[in-house]
This record gives sequence, structure tokens and C-alpha cells, in this order.
Amino acid sequence: MRAPIHLRAMSMSPLPQISADAWCARLAHLAQRDGLLLSTLRERDARDFELVLASAALFLPATQLLDERGANGCLKHFLATAGVMLDTDHVELRRWLADLAFIHRSDYGTDYRRGHLPAWLASAADTLDSERLAQAVSDARNAKASQRAARKAAWLAQQAGAAVADGEVEVILAVPAPAEHPVEDETFMRLAIDQAHNAWALGEVPVGAVVVKDGQVIATGFNQPIGNSDPTAHAEIQAMRAAAELLGNYRLSHCALYVTLEPCAMCSGAMQHARIGRLVYGAADPKTGACGSVVDLFAEPRLNHHTTVRGGVLAADCSTLLSRFFAQRREIKRGATASEDMDDGSQR
Ligand SMILES: [Zn+2]
Repeated sequence: MRAPIHLRAMSMSPLPQISADAWCARLAHLAQRDGLLLSTLRERDARDFELVLASAALFLPATQLLDERGANGCLKHFLATAGVMLDTDHVELRRWLADLAFIHRSDYGTDYRRGHLPAWLASAADTLDSERLAQAVSDARNAKASQRAARKAAWLAQQAGAAVADGEVEVILAVPAPAEHPVEDETFMRLAIDQAHNAWALGEVPVGAVVVKDGQVIATGFNQPIGNSDPTAHAEIQAMRAAAELLGNYRLSHCALYVTLEPCAMCSGAMQHARIGRLVYGAADPKTGACGSVVDLFAEPRLNHHTTVRGGVLAADCSTLLSRFFAQRREIKRGATASEDMDDGSQR
């Protein structure tokens, strides 16, 4: 069952008109992710929610009536192109669109046509069509995919080069453990903060991580336990999984892990299993931090001694992000009737 509809933006003062370019850019930005839930989008940002629904509505002809099959065809086309980042099907989407009057159903319930779009989107909608929206999303996703492929290719080429130059692969494994590089630490922490923003965009507690090897980011991750229905989907675990897959090795001995929040016991344990060479974190976590705040698993002499730890890098930036997120969530909760959310005091 869906929760009752509470579109906060609808009760606020009129929003300024958006341009067609800004519309495409915003949709392209949202399309950088996968598995975006309409309910999450609605809770997080009513404008983004309306923009996505209006984009779907533009896949229906402006005036022509469609039967249900025709309407479904349009919505499936949207979900395969401009709406590819959404985790929904055409039935749920059609319900949202009809409930909120983005599409209009005839009195007999047999025919559909495009409905009335919110005023702030209406004039841009006149100059936009489904093709342009689909193109904007496709361009954005292709750019991201080729960026990722380039990073992987560069990494593999570097490894191949090193292997050829040294005559044997074993030499790669003899790279010295990462040294202290305070300036680089801030650079990589900023990349981890970018990842934390990805988590926020999906309604997850904003924690981000990157794994660095030989001065290069080889993997990224962000907190996603709710969206993935996976209690282990903390940013560090996500990033370590991706790094191990890339390297084809479950040991990450010569890697450094950067994370915006002090790791919990689970993640600290996973890092020890992975033999992470160096851990750098941002904000301390007084509730679940396992690097000194609650316990210090890296200082425990009976556990392994492979990981050096540095905390407090860009700590203010990292913790501001978290407090802004929780402030926003409290504000949303005050406006909502019921939410089964997880405010049990834990950071994630
Ligand atoms: Zn964790």
C-alpha cells in the first residue's frame, strides 16, 4: 500500500518557471543513478518528483486519446529511456500520474491523455518532447559509463605496463604500503564526500567512500542499505567489493580506503579481513565508531596490525553533510503523517 500523498511543494508559493535546458539537465543529473524509487524521490524533493512525473507525461501525446494499451506503451517507452533510472513499472507509474493529474483518464476509465502539468513546468513542457528528454538521459548515462570504463582501462593498462616493464607480475605486489600524504588525503576525502551526496540523492544517510591504489581511485561506494535492502551495504563495504572485483583479489593490502564517517565494527572488521593498508576517515561517529569513538578495533593487539588509521580529515565538511541530512529529514517528518523510518539514533 502506498502512503497518502503529501506534496509539500504544492502548498508553497508558486515556483519560478524552469527552462527546457534546466529541465533536461536536472533529469540527466537524476539519471546518473540507478534504482531510484518514486516514493524516495517524493520524500526527498517534491520538485524532482514533479519533474520526473512530468517527463513521463510528455511521453504521451498532448491531445490524442490513447487506450490503456497505448498509454502503457508510452510509459514503458519512458521507463526504457528517459526514466531508465527509476525502480518502478508502468502500472505503478501510471497510478502516480493519474492520481496527481499528470495524465487524465476519461470518465469511462478507458482512455488516457496528457493531463495538466504543474505551472512551474508548463511553459518548458511546450518546447520539450520525449525524444529530447531521452537523449539528455542517454548522453548523461553514456558519459558516466565511459568515464567508468576509462578509469578501469587506465588502471588495467597501468598494471599491464608495470608487469611488462618488470618482467613479472609479482613485482606489482611489492609496491610499498601507502605513506602519509595529508594533501592527497583531502583530495580523496572530497571524492568520498561526492559519493556521500549520491547516497543522499537516494534518501540514504550520506556516507561515501573511495578506495585508492597507487594514487588512483579504483573504486567508489556510498551508503545504500535501505535501497538495497542490505544491512551490510555501508559505503566502505560497497567500495571494497568494487575494488576487490576490479583487482580480482579479495586482499586489498596496498589500498587505502577513504570514508566520510568513522567506520563501524562491521566495516572495520571487513577492512581487517581485506588487509586494507591504510584507512582515512572524516567525521568521528560517537554512536557506532569502531576506530576510537566507541571501541578501537585497530588498536586491539589481538586483531591484525595491517591497517594504519588517520581520522578527522575534512571532518567538519563530512559531519555538516550528515547534520544537514538529518535536519532535512526531521523537517520532512514534521510535514508527513506517518513514516516507518529508522530514527533510532544510529547514523545509518
Ligand atoms: Zn559500517
